[in-house]
Amino acid sequence: MARYVFVTGGVVSSLGKGLSSASLAALLQLRGFKVRIRKLDPYLNVDPGTMNPFQHGEVYVTDDGAETDLDIGHYERFTDISATKSDNITTGAIYSDIIKKERRGDYLGGTVQVVPHVTDRIKKFISYKIKDEDFVICEIGGTVGDIESLPFLEAIRQFANDIGDKNSLFVHLTLVPYLKASGELKTKPTQHSVKELRSLGIQPKIIICRSEKSIPISERKKISLFCNVDLKNVIETVDVQTIYEAPISFHKEKLDERVLSYFKIKSKKSPNLNKWKKITSNVLGSKKNVNIGIVGKYVNLKDAYKSLDEALTHGGISNNVKVNLTRIDSENLKIGNLKNLLKDVSGILIPGGFGKRGSEGKIAAIKYARLNNIPFFGICFGMQMAIIEAARNLLNIKNASTSEFGNNCTPVVGLLEEWHKGKKLIKGSNRNLGGTMRLGLYDALLKKNSLISKIYSTSKIKERHRHRYEVNLKYRNEFEKKGLIFSALSPDGLLPEIIELNNHPWFVGVQFHPEFKSRPFTPHPLFSSFIKAAEKRKGKNS
Ligand code: GLN
Repeated sequence: MARYVFVTGGVVSSLGKGLSSASLAALLQLRGFKVRIRKLDPYLNVDPGTMNPFQHGEVYVTDDGAETDLDIGHYERFTDISATKSDNITTGAIYSDIIKKERRGDYLGGTVQVVPHVTDRIKKFISYKIKDEDFVICEIGGTVGDIESLPFLEAIRQFANDIGDKNSLFVHLTLVPYLKASGELKTKPTQHSVKELRSLGIQPKIIICRSEKSIPISERKKISLFCNVDLKNVIETVDVQTIYEAPISFHKEKLDERVLSYFKIKSKKSPNLNKWKKITSNVLGSKKNVNIGIVGKYVNLKDAYKSLDEALTHGGISNNVKVNLTRIDSENLKIGNLKNLLKDVSGILIPGGFGKRGSEGKIAAIKYARLNNIPFFGICFGMQMAIIEAARNLLNIKNASTSEFGNNCTPVVGLLEEWHKGKKLIKGSNRNLGGTMRLGLYDALLKKNSLISKIYSTSKIKERHRHRYEVNLKYRNEFEKKGLIFSALSPDGLLPEIIELNNHPWFVGVQFHPEFKSRPFTPHPLFSSFIKAAEKRKGKNS
């Protein structure tokens, strides 16, 4: 039977529960175990798909088309296990499921309640489709003490009670703040947070303390005493320079060893962390640098383009160069300041996006990249903006735009009405915004001898999508006459998947999100190739 590790967070949010869970999973994998990581999110949205990235960070898309929390991205990058729809659930999804059943009369006249109906549904999710995994790591979103976390904490308490202590373990991640004025590390917030957890019937057995400074034995002893935890199970996590250092630092603190010792399980093999050490030294030690400009709308929140930032780092790893990211707010980008804002970048990337705000700045940046031979990478919305720029300036269609911004234009990008998934025809809907996009893995066929087929070294790819609009095929011939090639299409030949520009060092737009499939140990070929092109371009901006 699988062992379940529940990871909760205390004191404040953003302590790195996702990274801690992902690191633990990676370490257990290195010891020969099969793991699965899941996330329970307490908010009322059915999924994060409709949430603003400013508030919640990136929406991560899985192979099977789930729109999930960005932590799922960490899980995939750290374990290389593809997540599925059943690895992330929210309060909203649980309630909508229960209410649907209630309307159908499935509860046979009974009163529907948080306990047991909501908690039972959560418990079902935790072990759903778990078969031969050795460990299931379940991260509970939010912070202990939040009203909305309560049903989840009650559900994991019950779940652990059902399967017994020898099969379940609670790990609590808290903050141990450093007070500069007194020069002290403070354990009181941790004590309070654990007290809160214990009042809900949960006794953590491992406490991970996030801190700016290393925690001395005296403070560890205090935490051990007040929180009723074995001293060896008080584990510190101090800030790391790159996230890829996290598994190394948790291993030094013996997190994996303590987990196995709790379950009284012997390691299947001795863990070899060399591959993590290698990428860490690669990320931190590269002598060469390359500057990439990301022109987007959500530049002020670091997490809004999490997978993209990571994929660019991976591209750097494969070229042995450090990638510096300059985030440029597309709303501030005007013809007048464009040259100045982009003067130090050797590659321009326009990420996925939604809505008109800031789009003219993106289009201006694309024109600049096209005319000045600066490597350009357009992702999803970025590819759509590149088509609009080319339509306006190469085909002279002055009011070219996308129907996403309204109908008062020549729509070179239009609403997806229907599309194929294998043989199945799927109809789009422009009324509901949640879950109605072309989502998840779709095939694309690459044109022979194109730049893209060289980059991928294959003729058929599968990439993850998340879009409601598509490039209009109607203008293909005119674009191709001007050197803008449609170098990949969906297998039915109806949906443009990739565009590239001839007579340019590197100008590629893709309708999908390659960043979701990039891994630190297998960087995505598009990002490796883009960084290589940017590296070549270095120092040539006039
Ligand atoms: N807003 C565009 C669409 O829905 C692009 C989406 C994206 O970049 N993910 O098609």
